[in-house]
Amino acid sequence: MPSTSAITKGLSIRQRIMLGFLLLIVMSIAITTLNIYHLRDFHSLFKQHQQVSRDANGMLQVDADIAELQRQILAFAHTDREGDISNLLALHANILEQITKLITSQQGLSSANEQLLKQLESLVKNLREKIESLYSQRIDREKMITNKLVISFNTTDKFLHELYNSLSDNFSKELRTLWHAQHLLATIQTYSAQYFNTHEYADKKTIQDTFKELKSDLNGLRSTLETPAQRQTLDLILENVNAADQNFHTTVQADRNYLFLLNIVIAGETAEIATVSDELKKQFILAEHEVYETAEKQSAANERIAISASISGSLLAILIAFFIGKKISEPLISITNTFSKLANEENVTTIPGTERTDEIGRLANAANVFRETNRRTQDLLERTENFAAELKQREIALEQAVAKAQEASVAKSQFLANMSHELRTPMNAILGMLALLKKTALNARQTDYMQKSEAAARTLLSLLNDILDLSKAEAGKIELDPIPFSLDQLQQDLKVILTPLASNKDIQLDLTIAPELPRVYLGDALRLQQILINLGSNAIKFTQEGGVSIAIEPITNERNQHRLKFSVRDTGIGIAPENIVKIFTGFTQAEASTTRRFGGTGLGLAISQYLVSLMGGQLQVESEVGTGSLFYFTLELPELDETEIERFQATEEPSCLADSAQHLQGIQILLVEDNLTNQQIAKELLELEGAEIVTANHGQEALDILCQYTEESVPFQIVLMDLQMPVMDGISATHAIRQRLNFPRLPIIAMTANAMSSDREACLNAGMNDHVGKPFDIAQLVSVLNQYASTPTSNSQIAASHAEQNDQLEQNNQLEQTGAPPHSPIPVTTVDQTQKDAQEPELENTVEMDIKGAIGRMGGNKDIYFRMALKFIQSLDKIPAELNALLEKHDFAALAKACHSLKGVSATFGFMQLSERASRAEKRCSQTIEHEQAAQLIADLCAAATRAEQLFAQAETNKSAAI
Ligand code: ADP
Repeated sequence: MPSTSAITKGLSIRQRIMLGFLLLIVMSIAITTLNIYHLRDFHSLFKQHQQVSRDANGMLQVDADIAELQRQILAFAHTDREGDISNLLALHANILEQITKLITSQQGLSSANEQLLKQLESLVKNLREKIESLYSQRIDREKMITNKLVISFNTTDKFLHELYNSLSDNFSKELRTLWHAQHLLATIQTYSAQYFNTHEYADKKTIQDTFKELKSDLNGLRSTLETPAQRQTLDLILENVNAADQNFHTTVQADRNYLFLLNIVIAGETAEIATVSDELKKQFILAEHEVYETAEKQSAANERIAISASISGSLLAILIAFFIGKKISEPLISITNTFSKLANEENVTTIPGTERTDEIGRLANAANVFRETNRRTQDLLERTENFAAELKQREIALEQAVAKAQEASVAKSQFLANMSHELRTPMNAILGMLALLKKTALNARQTDYMQKSEAAARTLLSLLNDILDLSKAEAGKIELDPIPFSLDQLQQDLKVILTPLASNKDIQLDLTIAPELPRVYLGDALRLQQILINLGSNAIKFTQEGGVSIAIEPITNERNQHRLKFSVRDTGIGIAPENIVKIFTGFTQAEASTTRRFGGTGLGLAISQYLVSLMGGQLQVESEVGTGSLFYFTLELPELDETEIERFQATEEPSCLADSAQHLQGIQILLVEDNLTNQQIAKELLELEGAEIVTANHGQEALDILCQYTEESVPFQIVLMDLQMPVMDGISATHAIRQRLNFPRLPIIAMTANAMSSDREACLNAGMNDHVGKPFDIAQLVSVLNQYASTPTSNSQIAASHAEQNDQLEQNNQLEQTGAPPHSPIPVTTVDQTQKDAQEPELENTVEMDIKGAIGRMGGNKDIYFRMALKFIQSLDKIPAELNALLEKHDFAALAKACHSLKGVSATFGFMQLSERASRAEKRCSQTIEHEQAAQLIADLCAAATRAEQLFAQAETNKSAAI
């Protein structure tokens, strides 16, 4: 017989587990079957016991009934009542019926007992005949007694009476004999009745003796009777007495039989029946007990079998589980250990279980593969490490190369910026000169030359701007500057620039904005304008006849009014499909002939595309050669809330000086200002307002002018006094005017970039009437000047004014402490900048340039702004050299002064970053400072100056857009 392991050897773990389960299932089925089998056995035994028990009860009942029958028979022997017979018969029938039932059921009876039961049945059956015979005998005996015996007695008695009555009293002896005979008959009758009741032998003897005596008496009488009738009667009496005797004898016989039947036969049979019944009862009880015991034993045996089957089943299950577990866990533990070793990268020489064909074998093979993979990974790791080292070196080399490239890129940007500045500065100079030249008397040829030169210069300037823009775009340095702007203003500006181009070529130019669109958006309006100018000027350039239409509209089918579609459509030469792809690349044109025919650099679309993508859109084109082109893009511009729109519209409102009214008509002002630029701006702006301006370059010059007059004769209504000036500053000059020249009432108004309350206080203490911040807002300045020009001042007024201003100062100081802007004629933005002068400016967050604000402060006078700003920008060229020379001399005080001047003028023109850096340098140089720190500040300042030049160049190119 093969061993278990030999059987399971070829099986997989899964099959082994299945086999184990199968065995368990078979075993549990076997146990269940066995239990069912035993249960059935027990059930039949139980049923049998029930039947036997029923039979035993039946037998007990039969036995009880038989006892009752016996009792009734005995009772009947005494009572001798007729009705009892029927009771006996009914009881007998019942017993017989029960016995028959028992015979039919016949459960658990031995054959002997069965015989006994049948014997009982036949005995009981026989008894019925006896009872019936008893009944008939009883009737017969009764009949004998009543029908024969009693009749013969009565007849005898009747004839005795007859005879007695027939005898006369003479026959006294006979009469006495007859009377005695009657008495004997009566005795016989009495004893007879008594005998049939008691069956006493003495009674019978008495009756027999009495009969004999009666007969002898009667026979003795025969001889004495006289008449035959009497003798015949006597004969009849004797005959009846004999008959009675005979009847008595017969009846006694019958009674004896009856009693025999009752007392011997029936009683004997009943006793036998009772004996058999008793025996049967015992047997039945015994049988019931036996069956009960068998059932008990069977149940106990079943229980034992069930328990032992369960125990053996459980043991077998444990054995199987143990066997399977052992067979699975051992190799599993071994293979797991192998895997752990492999995972820990330990060296594993042999892998157990590879020869097996089951799952363990497969696992072992997987471990083998794992080991191989590990080896390969190890190899790869080593190689990767080598690669990584190599890569690191390359990365370092790359970083160096990138650093070099970045340096090169920075150098390139710097170069381009410098170059563009270097080129644009003379270009601006050329344009400026040409503009001046235009105003001089020129002949036709000169005018033509001049115009051509101007056109060429403008083209060159625009080319320079494009190159600068593209290089910035490529370096990712263009940043958007989103501000609220108005579509109408955009349209207006586009019109201003594009209309002349279109009208030169006699083509139609349409600029439309969908009426349903909101009018104010947030975006970089300058860059948007730059794109549309590029596209629009291209469209005009490449269109000979027909028209160009520029449209701003909402996206069709979209309710979002902040997604706008900008399109430029023309009816020009169109672009061939093969060229469409290349026109967006810098320095590329659709065809070589384009340059020849239309000019251009191929930069506009590249810059436009970059700017559109920076704004989140995509510049697209649809075109057909000979039909025209459509350039379009969509942008999502953020929404502005109501207050922002209102604020924007407020700033859009024309300056208070936009009207042509001259608010300072006839007022003479002495302007004391050392900075020529500031001097010129103030002079021109105030002159535009109708004022007459006399300038002094410092305090001393002002004194020199004023000392020619007395306070009454002085022609100036107001002195506008700068504070920091060479030779004599504003404070000293004011002191001198008030005290030395004794001009107590002449209004002196300070103009200073220092808006600190201490500065204001110093001004007022020195005797000045008011204080205007720099850069000044012309509207504010005019208002202040008007205030002092119209009301001649007195000492008391000055005092009152001082008191008022002190109050104001007080307020300002408080406001300064709480961070709110101080009172100043300068617009809020500028004041903020000025405030920052006192602190450490946050350069990174500073708005680089605020031309709009600057022009606004100049009453919207772009001409003055651009003219003066250009001068200032040009003057910046020499700034680095000047500052560095002072630095070399360690003349920090002079440096601070130079920076102060720069701060004020650059703020005047809206070069906020430059102003702030100058302010910082001024502040630091006024204190003790290291040479290196000062050098760094100056370097920052110069960089900001360069940046200001670039910004201004751009602004100038897009002059109308810039404002
Ligand atoms: P430029 O116009 O200075 O050459 P652009 O980058 O603006 O440079 O345009 C590149 C080229 O795309 C143009 O030279 C021209 O060939 C083509 N192009 C641009 N706009 C149009 C247009 N509206 N119609 C036909 N061709 C156009």
